[in-house]
Amino acid sequence: MTLLVQNHAASAPFAPAYDVQSWRDAAACRGMSPEESERIFFPSDPLDGMERQAMYDEARSYCRPCPVVQECLDDAIATGDRVGFRGGLSPALRIRRRAKVTLVGKCAECGGGFVLRTSRSRFCSHVCANRDHARRVRVLRQKGMG
Ligand code: SF4
Ligand SMILES: [Zn+2]
Repeated sequence: MTLLVQNHAASAPFAPAYDVQSWRDAAACRGMSPEESERIFFPSDPLDGMERQAMYDEARSYCRPCPVVQECLDDAIATGDRVGFRGGLSPALRIRRRAKVTLVGKCAECGGGFVLRTSRSRFCSHVCANRDHARRVRVLRQKGMG
């Protein structure tokens, strides 16, 4: 696992080289039309405070039960994404959360960035951990050991 120390002073965000973000397949907002997604998660400026709040409430209603809310939030924080409502948090709240983050890991499976909860974490999500596990099982079976 690669450990990267986050430099908050740097203006360039930590940008992992992704191929796929496998957890996105499980997102509660997946399959939403671009217009709907834009309206709910990326309300355009200028919106007055009440309108914005109403949009955020709607976005939150998707994020709260979303099975990959932690992965989504970690990704948004790790990549320094400052646009839109993601992982259950508004951009302003994510910026505050990011300021507290010191360590970002690189997922051993998909290469995506994620916020380390323990120094032993190797995967960004249970989806990636399961994929890694499934591959190991396959290899063992091929060798006739499973
Ligand atoms: S946490 Fe919210 S923005 Fe992120 S994938 Fe889930 S529903 Fe979409
Ligand atoms: Zn991953």
